[in-house]
Amino acid sequence: MNNEETLQLFKDSNALLTGHFKLTSGRHSDVYYEKFTLLKQPAICTRICLQMADRFKDSGAVTIVGPTTGGIIIAYDVARYMGIESIYAEAGDEGRVFKRGFSLEKGQKVIIVDDVLTTGRSIFEVIDLVNRYEAEIVGIGLMLDRSNGLVKFDYPYFALATVAADSWEPDECPLCAKGMEITQRGSRKF
Ligand SMILES: [Zn+2]
Repeated sequence: MNNEETLQLFKDSNALLTGHFKLTSGRHSDVYYEKFTLLKQPAICTRICLQMADRFKDSGAVTIVGPTTGGIIIAYDVARYMGIESIYAEAGDEGRVFKRGFSLEKGQKVIIVDDVLTTGRSIFEVIDLVNRYEAEIVGIGLMLDRSNGLVKFDYPYFALATVAADSWEPDECPLCAKGMEITQRGSRKF
């Protein structure tokens, strides 16, 4: 499955919306990714996770780590295909922590996965966590990169699909200038 076909899965599941959106940051954007619209559909999600498992098949990894919440689902499904274990990293007082008895050994080969790459913050937090255990990060896999190439990692990584997404401060938004109606998006909507 190539970039276009993977992107089409996101669009078919209505996870990837184009239009005029107000993000939780307050900025306006022409693309909105509603992650759980895809993640709530296992039949579609698993097709993407299968590709990810295939990319990692020679990695030697024995454990997959995903950040809460989307990363739990992806880590679990990819690990199922690879026949290895999956654990997840939760928010702690500072950065990420393992709870529920999860742990890593020194030198243990680990993959990190997540759904969408925007600022990379969750992934950087998981990298810090894994490094605290002195485990070895052998790869990072993302379903969708919407960082516009601005986020880089010091480990081998890939995104199965990349989408160009622009965002602007409201007073510089060309979609506002065109008078296009705006859709409020983000998790703080009630
Ligand atoms: Zn706007």
